[in-house]
Amino acid sequence: MFNDAEPNKNHELLVTLENKLGDRFHCITQNIDNLHQRAGTKRIYEIHGNLHEMRCSDECSKEVYKIPHKISLKEINEDLTIKEKKLLKCPKCGESTRPNILWFDEYYNERNFKLHSSLKLAKNTTLLIILGTSGATNLPNRLVEQTLKYGGHVIDVNLEDNHFTKSFSMKKQFYSVRKDIHSFLLNLLETIH
Ligand SMILES: [Zn+2]
Repeated sequence: MFNDAEPNKNHELLVTLENKLGDRFHCITQNIDNLHQRAGTKRIYEIHGNLHEMRCSDECSKEVYKIPHKISLKEINEDLTIKEKKLLKCPKCGESTRPNILWFDEYYNERNFKLHSSLKLAKNTTLLIILGTSGATNLPNRLVEQTLKYGGHVIDVNLEDNHFTKSFSMKKQFYSVRKDIHSFLLNLLETIH
């Protein structure tokens, strides 16, 4: 399913925005589908990991590996071949690997999920724009708190109220924009020369 997905127009508009802003732009994403990179986003922080990466399930080292391309796509009831299973073993200790993504009962950390560097970005930014997320998980909320605490502004682009609205709408520097992401990004790009 993930491999069939293609970057959409909004992924591309974010690339245009990054090209205009250069080092002033950073994309912190909860997406694990790799589509931002495929569209061309460079300054990216994947706080929930990347489904195309794997690491040792036994944590024998800190190494993160790309999932080998040689592994072909499967039907839902189709198993991996013996060769493919071998490719998915940890190259260092031979233990099984696991996807390098954050499962529901796991904790954020810096090494795999950019916990500290994303919080640092949020602290130093003047404008944090929230696109396409409702704020149901912990770190995105902390990012908003962090930006507001250090004097930055937050714009939440969402068609209806969400977790962010509930927690932050009374804050002076928090704005809800009732627009779809596409028209918001188009308008934003018009204002940047
Ligand atoms: Zn290992």
